[in-house]
Amino acid sequence: MNNTELEQIVRQVIAGMQGQPASAPKASGPVPKSARVAMLTGIEKFELQEYTLPEIGDDDMLVKVEGCGICGTDAHEYKRDPFGLIPVVLGHEGTGEIVKIGKNVKKDSAGKPLNIGDKIVTSVILKDDPEITMFDLNKQNVGGADVFGLLPDDEVHFNGWFADYIVIKKGATVFNVSDLDLDSRILIEPCAVLIHAVERAKSTGILRFNSRVVVQGCGPIGLICIAVLRTMGIENITAVDGEEKRLEFAKRMGADKTVNFKNHNGIEALAGAVKDSFGGHFADFAFQCTGSPVAHSNIYKFIRSGGGLCELGFFINGGDATINPHFDLCSKEITLVGSWVYTLRDYATTFDFLKRAIAIGLPIKELITHKYPLEKINDAFVTNVKMEGLKIAVINE
Ligand SMILES: [Zn+2]
Repeated sequence: MNNTELEQIVRQVIAGMQGQPASAPKASGPVPKSARVAMLTGIEKFELQEYTLPEIGDDDMLVKVEGCGICGTDAHEYKRDPFGLIPVVLGHEGTGEIVKIGKNVKKDSAGKPLNIGDKIVTSVILKDDPEITMFDLNKQNVGGADVFGLLPDDEVHFNGWFADYIVIKKGATVFNVSDLDLDSRILIEPCAVLIHAVERAKSTGILRFNSRVVVQGCGPIGLICIAVLRTMGIENITAVDGEEKRLEFAKRMGADKTVNFKNHNGIEALAGAVKDSFGGHFADFAFQCTGSPVAHSNIYKFIRSGGGLCELGFFINGGDATINPHFDLCSKEITLVGSWVYTLRDYATTFDFLKRAIAIGLPIKELITHKYPLEKINDAFVTNVKMEGLKIAVINE
């Protein structure tokens, strides 16, 4: 053994002791000089723009985007620019592979090691708000924090997931999810919304294994709600929606019974159908997963006295709803909780939920009904706005 070989071995041992990989991990091909982003440049108009990829700072990462789901929030921005962000690179339900990593970046937000080649998702970018921390259970949801894909365009440009690459800056919460497949990783963000909602529901003390639960609205949020309830052992679930196809999917996700509101004229008949689905009982607990004010007004009629309600359908302002405080809330002593986004703790819980859902055979990955390449992002959004599918995703090959 000569000196050079000896030196190499010593270096490897020292690197190993420092927790660094002794050999360079394999990256997915060379990183190009420039890459594309899908810039929303006007209402309902994305343009692919090419920019030079920046040098990575010691606290940053460069991630090769593999895919990103289209969220309701993205669709609102695309249609009307309510956040005033245009020009903007959208996309926050994204995932990809680390191709460059700054020397100060060692671990993800849950303490798992991070290396080149790992698959990650991001959650919020923490500012200086001490109220939003990782492990304070339900202390505060992350609403109001910055998120990649909802940031104004800047000189780097690679700050949203609808792109070939994204630059992850210091302060971002990042999770190593290399043990999940691409479809599951794209579904993490919407699933975290339901993990949080069910945690909120549990805080009422009403939700139990044998509870009769009604889930109103069978879009992606309602369907994931059913899957979360099912994975935690709740079996007596009735799904309410107006589309037979969605109700069928709800059954495959774990709903025991379904009620199509279009088959029942008026709220009394509809409430009667929900009651029949539980063998002559009203629901112990209800989840309201639509953005319709009428649906909010209706759902109280499905719940027994002493029951509970989690309202999570109004992700944005959908207008006012009318209820009768005496009959709907007070005299029945309903316990009502609202839910919005998630805590960072819920985000980490979501990874295990996805594994459990897949393990018990729930068709959770079928929520992704359409996949488009980045260059077809305009078509992807048109499909999303037409509400033809469930979850629409942009996938980079
Ligand atoms: Zn979202």
